[in-house]
Amino acid sequence: MRKTVILLFILYLILFPSLSFARVFEKNTVLMGTDIEIIISHDSEEKVNTAFDAAIGEFKRIENEMSEWIEGTPVSNINQKAGKEAVVVPEELFKVIATAQKVSELSNGAFDISWASMRGLWKFGKGEERVPSPEEIRQRLPLVNYKNIELDEVKRTVFLKKEGMAIGLGAIAKGYAVDMAMQKMTNLGVKNAIIKAGGDMRIQGTKDGEPWDVGIKHPRDRKKLLGKLNLSNISISTSGDYERYFIKDGVLYHHIMDPKTGYPSRGCQSVTILAPDTMTSDALSTAVFVLGPEDGMRLIKSLSGIEGIIVDSNGHVHYSPGLGKGVDRRKGQ
Ligand code: ADP
Ligand code: MG
Repeated sequence: MRKTVILLFILYLILFPSLSFARVFEKNTVLMGTDIEIIISHDSEEKVNTAFDAAIGEFKRIENEMSEWIEGTPVSNINQKAGKEAVVVPEELFKVIATAQKVSELSNGAFDISWASMRGLWKFGKGEERVPSPEEIRQRLPLVNYKNIELDEVKRTVFLKKEGMAIGLGAIAKGYAVDMAMQKMTNLGVKNAIIKAGGDMRIQGTKDGEPWDVGIKHPRDRKKLLGKLNLSNISISTSGDYERYFIKDGVLYHHIMDPKTGYPSRGCQSVTILAPDTMTSDALSTAVFVLGPEDGMRLIKSLSGIEGIIVDSNGHVHYSPGLGKGVDRRKGQ
């Protein structure tokens, strides 16, 4: 009798493997200057570990290509040759920069990877916080202009037209890395997973057959959520003024810059964007943040497949039309 039960159980496992053993595995690490969290729902621990390694390898690879802080990366080379010559870059870097340029056009320059021309003026590191003088900003600001980033699709080159110019992919490369890391995991047979890098998240498949439950951070109260969303096969990014900031003389200075003024953008506390891929959600969350609640919501509405939540500077929450009903606000309280 007992033998029969065991045999039946084994038969059941063979017939319905996915129903049987899926467990949730988690890995946390720090890469690309940010907290990375990978969650996988799967039945094989061995496969999960291979997937973790592949995803982390991908983050490292992309950091070594797209960091403006590590010497010798293609992005550092572009910056070094500013005003001098065009630099041939890897195809995927060209694609990321070309996408950044599109978002700059869509947002009328609110998103601008040449914001990095201001680097050194603002400092957010602990103990080295720095607010530049108006004179410093006035001198440096003319170097910030995405129209002076010249792309040649045929030669696959990037040229920064003015000496002293620089680009920084802090608002888009992380999202791209999340997409690529998820792709690696999918290729290894992981279908149900979440990859989170700071505020950028890819949600793939399901957990126990149901969409994943994703909480949206409240920009002013860490213990509270703005709401929860049930999501599957989508990307979600949040840009907030609370991620990297300091307070000086009672003023909050944060890391999302308005390229028109050279100062931190003031219209929003946080912006969450849902998009078909994470490179897009990452770039758009920054773009909409800088545009502010009115122009930002207008941009979200004008794009198909994009939804968003904007918390304006007064703490009022605005949902794009496609989200109004989809957010369970009670769960977040
Ligand atoms: P996080 O890095 O917290 O995910 P974002 O995706 O909004 O936040 O990116 C903010 C980063 O983007 C900044 O740290 C800086 O590297 C860069 N950045 C700041 N302002 C702009 C801007 N106007 N356009 C493009 N990139 C920007
Ligand atoms: Mg971003």
